[in-house]
Amino acid sequence: LGLDNLDFAVLCALSLAVAAYFYKDKFAELFASDESISVVSSSGSRDIVHVLKENNKNYLVLYGSQTGTAEDYAKKFAKELTAKFSLNVMCADVENYEFDHLNELPSDVIVSFFVSTYGEGDFPDGAVPFEDYLNTLEDGDLSNVKYTLFGLGNSTYEFFNGAAKKAHKKLSNAGANLVGIYGEADDGAGTTDEDYLSWKDALLEELKTVLSLDEHEQRFEPSFTYKVLDSGVTDTVSLGEPTAQYMPTAKLSYNNEGKQLGPFDGTNPYVAPIVKSHELFTSKDRNCIHAEFDLSGSNMKYSTGDHLAVWPSNSDEKVKQFLSCFNLDPETVFDLKPLDSTVKCPFPLPTTIGAAVRHYLEITGPVSRQIFSSLVQFAPNDDIKESLAKIAQDKDLFAKDITSRYFNLADALLYLSNGSKWDSVPWNFIVESVPHLQPRYYSISSSSLSEKQTVHITAIVENNANPSSEKAEPVTGVTTNLLRNIQLAQNKKAVAASNLPVHYDLDGPRGLFKNYKLPVHVRRSAFRLPSNPATPVIMVGPGTGVAPFRGFVRDRVKFVEQQPNVTLGKHLLFYGSRNQDDFLYASEWPDYSKKLGGAFEMIVAHSRLPDQPKVYVQDRLIEREKEVYELIAEKGAFIYVCGDAKGMAQGVHAALVKILSNGKGITTDEAAEIIKMFKANGKYQEDVW
Ligand code: FAD
Repeated sequence: LGLDNLDFAVLCALSLAVAAYFYKDKFAELFASDESISVVSSSGSRDIVHVLKENNKNYLVLYGSQTGTAEDYAKKFAKELTAKFSLNVMCADVENYEFDHLNELPSDVIVSFFVSTYGEGDFPDGAVPFEDYLNTLEDGDLSNVKYTLFGLGNSTYEFFNGAAKKAHKKLSNAGANLVGIYGEADDGAGTTDEDYLSWKDALLEELKTVLSLDEHEQRFEPSFTYKVLDSGVTDTVSLGEPTAQYMPTAKLSYNNEGKQLGPFDGTNPYVAPIVKSHELFTSKDRNCIHAEFDLSGSNMKYSTGDHLAVWPSNSDEKVKQFLSCFNLDPETVFDLKPLDSTVKCPFPLPTTIGAAVRHYLEITGPVSRQIFSSLVQFAPNDDIKESLAKIAQDKDLFAKDITSRYFNLADALLYLSNGSKWDSVPWNFIVESVPHLQPRYYSISSSSLSEKQTVHITAIVENNANPSSEKAEPVTGVTTNLLRNIQLAQNKKAVAASNLPVHYDLDGPRGLFKNYKLPVHVRRSAFRLPSNPATPVIMVGPGTGVAPFRGFVRDRVKFVEQQPNVTLGKHLLFYGSRNQDDFLYASEWPDYSKKLGGAFEMIVAHSRLPDQPKVYVQDRLIEREKEVYELIAEKGAFIYVCGDAKGMAQGVHAALVKILSNGKGITTDEAAEIIKMFKANGKYQEDVW
């Protein structure tokens, strides 16, 4: 078959047209990408050294973050270097860059790493390519690099700060030179902020010498040009849409059936309808919400054991308080433009101040002492300036006056100013200094085998009396109170809803969340049932820790329905609750037992029965010592632990160490080594928080 040039050109054009027709949704998706994810460099390079030089930066801060904490500290650190020493800092996510030429960093540029640890000593999802890069390094590869390193972890996990430790080892083995000391934050001890501040203060002293820096009073140096727009709210102004894909102008982001286009992930959530929700507790003083999200049509898949990330927004009450504290006009429309290509717009822009406060800023939650030092320059008067500077320097005073009172930022500032407004604080300072609202994760409590398109979550509502007598309102969690508001509205319980401590705009921006929808994405986890159904399984999940095990058990029920001739291994579920009032899914378990026959057994511990001793799941494990030992040591059982990382997971670990040590006649250290090995090969899995 002979084709001349014209035939070939016509064929190519035809193929493109056909491809464009069949893949039009995909093309649309590409072109409708979120504007907030800006191009990495004006030249299009992803090479970190190239981009740094191209933008005349003289300090590099890099972070690998899973839930936003490492990112938040990296940004604070970068801002302080600029505000105190006028350094021209590039602050970036390792996810976005390549590091092959890292050793070519200019000799006077230091790189500061902030690395979070996730799961079993793992790097955050986005930092895995960076870890791969570190693994390729050989002795001397980074001999020109000077670095600092701060790890963010939780000592209740076995591999505390595992990722940061790994990074430290790889960097120093490659010849990179550590400046200052390697720092670690321990969320398990609740000291992340203070750990960071003491590491940072010592490091800044060191940097002053190493880089011959002159320190001046903190001056806010914006990373964006900030502009107020007089245009009012038009279709191009975000009202809190999760990404630019949801803007009215992003016409291409819907397919022919009117469904939003994916792929949906951590940068682009799916606005999923909550098709059902109900209260799981029968007691009046505590709440736990079961919510079912419908993913059909989204192309989003999940597997039993994954996590659902829910993107929250702030309550009316907290938004009002924050706006009032800084005397902000919620209607003001503003835009931000990055001053150089290394800076990313933090959310869809332009937007209104009201939308940013409600949808994009973390305005509740504990206050970081560091923000106080940077606010000194904007204090309403000299007296307040003095007391703010004092408390910013005094760790104990800060703990006593601010942290122990459970103040959020607005509470704390209004307390310090005796109610005076902080109207000299520039709005762009607030946007650049207050952390951005992060999605919250929930262990999925449904089974992908049984409910392919519907994801269930089980969320305990964070609504605690404030232990400090000076603040009457309870301390509320953002997402769980939003879920509770939705549950009451969906089930037409208006009176109960009106009595809630906080209320939300359930319709969302331009009605996007109307009829009980919320933005979500699925996060893959390694928490999986063994592929061989005959392998025994020991599950330990008190409280909402039972969530993924409800999914596991539903999975096995469906499996047995589909393959009745397959024999299941023993499945033991150790569950704990205070009493019958908070017994989660109490009516479902007997049915699962019936369907799974002797293969499933639930062993319950209650910690608050009247006139009864407190019994925890770890006590029940010890009571069943012989059987648990046989399942693990002789039948190769997989062990799963889910729920509270602090007390419970450690208690369960200790109980299992004891069981193995007694059973095998070995020391507890030897038994702990065996469990470590189980963790490494996936036979002991934890999903704890
Ligand atoms: P947030 O707003 O994040 O507040 C967190 C806590 O801080 C609350 O207790 C709140 O009362 C308190 N707080 C608020 N303001 C202040 C202040 N100024 N000072 C001091 N404290 C304050 N949870 C579940 O219920 N079920 C699950 O299945 C589940 N699975 C999880 C799986 C993973 C992998 C992870 C990481 C977490 C999981 N969680 C689960 C926890 C969940 O992600 C949330 O952390 C939890 O629901 C609280 O979210 P929130 O937005 O309501 O509270």
